[in-house]
Amino acid sequence: MSLGDRAYFGAALPFPLPPGETLFPLDSVVMRFIHGLSRSPGLCGCKRFFEACLEVMAEKLDPNSLADGSEPLFSFGIIADIQYADLEDGFNYQRSRRRYYRHSLVHLQGAIEDWNKENSLPCCVLQLGDIIDGYNAQYKVSEKSLELVMNTFQMLKVPVHHTWGNHEFYNFSRDFLVNSKLNSKFLEDRIVQHPETTPSENYYAYHFVPFPKFRFVLLDAYDLSVLGIDQSSPKYEQCMKMLREHNPNVELNSPQGLSEPQYVQFNGGFSQEQLNWLNEVLTFSDLNQEKVVIVSHLPIYPEASDSVCLAWNYKDALSVIWSHNCVVCFLAGHTHDGGYSEDHFGVHHVNLEGVIETAPDSQAFGTVHVYPDKMLLKGRGRVPDRIMNYKREEVLCF
Ligand SMILES: [Zn+2]
Repeated sequence: MSLGDRAYFGAALPFPLPPGETLFPLDSVVMRFIHGLSRSPGLCGCKRFFEACLEVMAEKLDPNSLADGSEPLFSFGIIADIQYADLEDGFNYQRSRRRYYRHSLVHLQGAIEDWNKENSLPCCVLQLGDIIDGYNAQYKVSEKSLELVMNTFQMLKVPVHHTWGNHEFYNFSRDFLVNSKLNSKFLEDRIVQHPETTPSENYYAYHFVPFPKFRFVLLDAYDLSVLGIDQSSPKYEQCMKMLREHNPNVELNSPQGLSEPQYVQFNGGFSQEQLNWLNEVLTFSDLNQEKVVIVSHLPIYPEASDSVCLAWNYKDALSVIWSHNCVVCFLAGHTHDGGYSEDHFGVHHVNLEGVIETAPDSQAFGTVHVYPDKMLLKGRGRVPDRIMNYKREEVLCF
């Protein structure tokens, strides 16, 4: 099954879907088929049948009906790659996808209105990085554009946790970001009796508990990076050495000919210091029977991403995560196309579809409803619904 196909499916269903429910989004191929039927005499009955099918398909996953009628414990919103710029539409680097630079802000406004209207407000929203586009730096309007997007986020009734992506570093230095509104570390929780779970100031990562027994961890995927860092610093030198060892191309953004194509300049990685900290947090969560959600701009699981977009040392991050039982899912952005896979250890990897490449007549965000035995991602627009069951022996009792 190709990555594109897999993107429509979510985890394997543990039970048959109730009548009227589907995991398949409306497909333009089906729409074209219906349109063709409507123009064929004598096929009206067939057309009505397919229209009825479409009506069923249009009803997306209802979290309550899939959760045996039980209410979710809590929910949270997710959105990725807004990449706002006050520019006409453009294209991605391969010129295969349209980018809606101005409309991305309208998409964000729509998402905020939806979250604010939900019956039960999400506890928070996770912004998965690349909030404004790198073009803003070129036109020297980075701060103005950031202000505009952050003012839009002000309309949201719940806190926002911001991760940092490559476009943050095209616009701002790391020092600027640390002192900006994109630093949401003030929302962190500290475990006083376990100081080893307190992150260092050397990277931008933290954890928090939105609901008892659930811990969220935000990772810094550009902890190792040549972006946004003082070029005279030893860390820059170390990161450039690492990048050049894996990428002999003159153009360091090119993955051409690489055996590990993720070693490009627009990606980054996790320092051993950050991975050790993550290991301590996950050890604490295991001991306390917590469920953990990990958030990062860069994905780490090849089956859910294209191979160029992964974090440099994604294997190191996976080996830390796989040595613990507590991680339910790993949420990332960056790829824009979206992707999903459950790994062999039962961790669900979700790459969220990017707002920037979402047409004005669609949407790209989601709400994750959290239950004692699973999380249900209710996607909007081109974000598919996903069922993320916990590992069998790890179901929480409430
Ligand atoms: Zn990115």
